[in-house]
Amino acid sequence: KKTDIGLIGLAVMGENLALNMESRGWNVSVYNRTVPGIEEGVVDRFVAGRAKGKNIQGYTEIADFVASIKAPRKIMMMVRAGSPVDQLMEQLFPHLSTGDILIDGGNSNFEDTERRVKLAESKGFRFVGAGVSGGEEGALNGAAIMPGGTKSAWEEVKPVLQSIAAKAKDGMPCCDWVGPGGSGHFVKMIHNGIEYGDMQLISESYWVLRNLLGLSNEELSKVFSKWNEGRLSSYLIEITANILKHKDKDGEYLIDKILDTAGQKGTGKWSVINAMELGMPLGLIASAVFERSLSSNKEVRVEASKLFHEDKEKSLYNKADMIEDVESALYASKLVSYAQGFAVLQKASDEFNWDLNLASIARMWREGCIIRSVFLNDIAAAFEAEDKPKHLLFAPYFKAEIEQMLFGWKHLVSHALKEEMPIPAFSSALNYFYSLTSSSLPANMIQAQRDYFGAHTFERVDQPRGEFFHENWTGHGGDTKSGTYNV
Ligand code: NDP
Repeated sequence: KKTDIGLIGLAVMGENLALNMESRGWNVSVYNRTVPGIEEGVVDRFVAGRAKGKNIQGYTEIADFVASIKAPRKIMMMVRAGSPVDQLMEQLFPHLSTGDILIDGGNSNFEDTERRVKLAESKGFRFVGAGVSGGEEGALNGAAIMPGGTKSAWEEVKPVLQSIAAKAKDGMPCCDWVGPGGSGHFVKMIHNGIEYGDMQLISESYWVLRNLLGLSNEELSKVFSKWNEGRLSSYLIEITANILKHKDKDGEYLIDKILDTAGQKGTGKWSVINAMELGMPLGLIASAVFERSLSSNKEVRVEASKLFHEDKEKSLYNKADMIEDVESALYASKLVSYAQGFAVLQKASDEFNWDLNLASIARMWREGCIIRSVFLNDIAAAFEAEDKPKHLLFAPYFKAEIEQMLFGWKHLVSHALKEEMPIPAFSSALNYFYSLTSSSLPANMIQAQRDYFGAHTFERVDQPRGEFFHENWTGHGGDTKSGTYNV
């Protein structure tokens, strides 16, 4: 009997997704390459192990694997992002029939997905680039899935993908059609960028309360648990509370023994690079990425700390007030980060004609993924409003929230900086907020300087927008202007 879907790549994500599919009633074919020198017997081990007695058929030959699946075939690839996906597609093509659907569930770069959609379509196949978030646990029990690509594939893959997706409290699956081309992977990339920002903000909160208030790990865990009951309620806050009280085998807190050098696999960096390409500010995520880079250079930090460190008295800050102000700084900065992230999504949507539905994206992130939180309900509601806000911070609900947070946020940022605490994400968010809400900025000076040294021209406040002027600043420059294009 032919199976409903095929899955390639039996590492942690693939194995768990296959089991998830099977548990929802789908018959699954699985395949993993067998290459001498690279771990062999992966398929046999899975079929004889976790897949034993289940409706899962294992294959070690790609032709047999493809032939075992019902047409039009749905084949999900869960392999390492990059060239492995291209290699796999080349191996699959000769065995596929017109209309078959390839789904790439890995963390592929959206530009690769754009290219692969075109390539697969040029051969009469269909291609879906689906961002999957939720790690091992999500893969097994319900992930957030962000599919985009060949639109006609959606009706075919929807029943399977929605069945393995997490469900929000209102029962909606955290998986819906995102848009054409590489849009699904773009949305997943921004999700991961936001994840970098959230993690940095939580780390700064922890660091300020630990070092400026001297809270113990147990006390800190209680603060995060309490926050998790309110508007900050989210998976990352919840696991932070658990991490803080987790003890090592010797009874001491494990968090204090973990080396402070953060790793990264690139999706945060890609978010920032693409935001730059689109000419959009994404400062909070950028500061989170750069802070990971700085943290990983421990040797230099240790040396610098000896050069510049000075012991001094800490100035006073009421304990309850500081906890409240850190909560304000965390919430307001998170709001800024999401506002920046969604603005990048909107810009990409306009630029690439994706017609993204921002409310639907916020809804997809409510469960299953790493950034899941109650806050995403409010974001979805803001974008669903009849009078759709130009910017998330303009939504009446969030405007009121920021107004309420602002005093504590700025008080905390200025205090922490005076106390020489690094809070790059809190302060980046506050600076963004100040710039965003300034009707005048010193960019007139930048324009004057550009015109002075390079005849780049400027617009004038007393002339209509779109008219460009050049000044002969020194009296000996010419009248020849540079072009007025922006990149
Ligand atoms: P890995 O990213 O480590 O990928 C391992 C799998 O890729 C193995 O099945 C491996 O086969 C296969 N593979 C590698 N190179 C090739 C190749 N040239 N041809 C065919 N197959 C190849 O495993 P994960 O399960 O962690 O991730 C799978 C995908 O899902 C990745 O794109 C990842 O970024 C993404 N992802 C991962 C998450 C996580 O939490 N781990 C969360 C969300 C997405 P072999 O066993 O033979 O080496």
